[in-house]
Amino acid sequence: MVIPGPLSSAVIIAVGSELLTPDHIDTNSLFLTRELNQLGIIVRYKTVVRDDSNDLVLALQIAMQQTGLVIVTGGLGATSDDITRPALASAFGLSLHENASVASVIQERFNIRGIEMPEINLRQALIPEGADVLFNSCGTAPGFSIEKNKVLCVALPGPPRELRPMFQKFSKNHLVSRSGERRTFRRVIVVAGRSESDVETAVQSIYVRWLDSSQPVFTSVLASSGKVELHLSTIGANAKESEQVLTTAVAAIAEVLGESLVSTDGSPIEVVVGRLLKDRGVYLAVAESCTGGLTSSRLTDVAGSSGYLHSGWVVYSDEAKVKTLGIDYQLIKAHGAVSKEVAEAMAMSARELADVQYALGITGIAGPAGGSAEKPVGTVWIALVGPHSLRRTRLLRLSGERADIKYQASQAALDLLRRVLLQCA
Ligand code: AMP
Ligand code: MG
Repeated sequence: MVIPGPLSSAVIIAVGSELLTPDHIDTNSLFLTRELNQLGIIVRYKTVVRDDSNDLVLALQIAMQQTGLVIVTGGLGATSDDITRPALASAFGLSLHENASVASVIQERFNIRGIEMPEINLRQALIPEGADVLFNSCGTAPGFSIEKNKVLCVALPGPPRELRPMFQKFSKNHLVSRSGERRTFRRVIVVAGRSESDVETAVQSIYVRWLDSSQPVFTSVLASSGKVELHLSTIGANAKESEQVLTTAVAAIAEVLGESLVSTDGSPIEVVVGRLLKDRGVYLAVAESCTGGLTSSRLTDVAGSSGYLHSGWVVYSDEAKVKTLGIDYQLIKAHGAVSKEVAEAMAMSARELADVQYALGITGIAGPAGGSAEKPVGTVWIALVGPHSLRRTRLLRLSGERADIKYQASQAALDLLRRVLLQCA
């Protein structure tokens, strides 16, 4: 096995017609990508191919021209739709041979269970000539690796519980030494209260510079409802230097993000808010209408949250707002349940009833029905009350589906509290 230079990139090919239906997801490539990245090997691209020999040969031929490491998953079973073995042999110009030790391992598995082995199972013993067999400790289908024309190709069984240990063993024995000392180092920066494009505009000129440095830092901006994350990664042989490169990069980004920066270690806002409450020795109560308890739920996702979350109410109907929180019905009648006044009254009642320092009130229209010209779907009022007559309110005009609106509303409420606790709201 001779491969010049360290392996730096890979292509993953997932084989299986079921993976091209809406019901099955190719999760193997996610696992493989994580493992490869840890070795400093980047995945150039991945492909999902149906159980079709011609399609797989084509995909293999393209991949072989582009990288030194091709990983194929699936299609190693014993049935006729399992075409990985012949397709790989064909793409590499190799013939298939029955491997005696694989055949006896398969035979033995049937012997142990006292079952007669169906003849088709021997198909799994067909291995391209010269390939190294990867024995399967969790199933029957063996994997194998082929090395030819400066390409190392690994074929792994589809079931994740079989693929994972097999890949890890292969990686330990063959990839670690060839990937050099290089490893991938990462940081995740969490941002709140700014849109994806806003964050991109603010940080783009900074991170493009890093691409030309001696140890490049790769940045991607990822957004999902109400939150934006910046993923920074660098590949290096020296852990200390690589961490320092990332620390410098994170500091440059943190400076332009200012108070929108939630965390630089990937911690979500509910964790950060929890830490801030705990550090200050204060408690929070939450009164929620349109978010239906989501804010409390997110806060209680964090272990130890009883140290700062006192209580939460879901007061969805007008009646609940009046009966449970003691809100004046005339206030609801005069301003509507979705109003600044009601959000504030909810927060104040919650603070009083729980006898705590801080309380949030959240009321809005999550849709799809219930909107009006004046208060369209996505209209949300949040209120925060705290010590020394602190009162903050925010009007949100959110868009998206019901679940998105609920999530964004809870995110905005947590962010309002976070900023106040940082004393920068
Ligand atoms: P195969 O090795 O193609 O016979 O696949 C056997 C089973 O493994 C399939 O029925 C799937 O449930 C699972 N599988 C195959 N490929 C993948 C993949 N890329 N990600 C997750 N599961 C898979
Ligand atoms: Mg299959």
